[in-house]
Amino acid sequence: MFELIAESIFMKTSRSFDSNIVYIDANENQILIDTGTGLFAEELDKDLQNVGSSLSKITDVILTHSHIDHIGGLVPMLENNSPRIHLHKEEANLINAGDMSGTLADTFGAQLPDMKIEGILEEGQILVFGDIMMRVLHTPGHSSGSVCLHLEEQELIVTGDTLFAGGSFGRVDFPNGSARLIVDSLKRLSQIDFEIALPGHNQSIKHNAKRSAEISYQTAKNWFNV
Ligand SMILES: [Zn+2]
Ligand SMILES: [Zn+2]
Repeated sequence: MFELIAESIFMKTSRSFDSNIVYIDANENQILIDTGTGLFAEELDKDLQNVGSSLSKITDVILTHSHIDHIGGLVPMLENNSPRIHLHKEEANLINAGDMSGTLADTFGAQLPDMKIEGILEEGQILVFGDIMMRVLHTPGHSSGSVCLHLEEQELIVTGDTLFAGGSFGRVDFPNGSARLIVDSLKRLSQIDFEIALPGHNQSIKHNAKRSAEISYQTAKNWFNV
């Protein structure tokens, strides 16, 4: 089920291994941020229909990073649709070269077809979809191409697997992970004024997300001793 977070912005909280999924209704642009594993595609389609869209109407998929629990939902979607896929260049270039190792699909016994990432994201880039504007923040650490999407007008950041609620943060022990870099990325988030955080897993942060980011930053800094 999608929960309304702000005008035109919804989040579906994950079940089991799926990532959370953000849906943005920007009229002609129907946007998903992350797609889950794909195991619950039928449910996702129904949930999208309940908010006036559907998997086949999605025009743009933005990935916070390319781990299988975020990218896997593209596989069923690509059967009937060809949305434009956006991903940071660090991970997009590998996938476009046919190297799927960074997705961890093998590790989790999944298979991904070759796919073409057209939207190559870079630090500072501004994505405009109708009335919705978001800035790409490159926040490596959980993976080398992890990004957060900052919707300044909504004081909202989609934080992927970088920042979680409750002073938590993403793991860094996968290939391309870095404790030092996630601490830097959390520090950066903690310096931004924002109210709402939509993380890649577990619950959203609806109030004073900046404060929550400060706690995550301090916790990570102490935990990793960097
Ligand atoms: Zn994840
Ligand atoms: Zn991840």
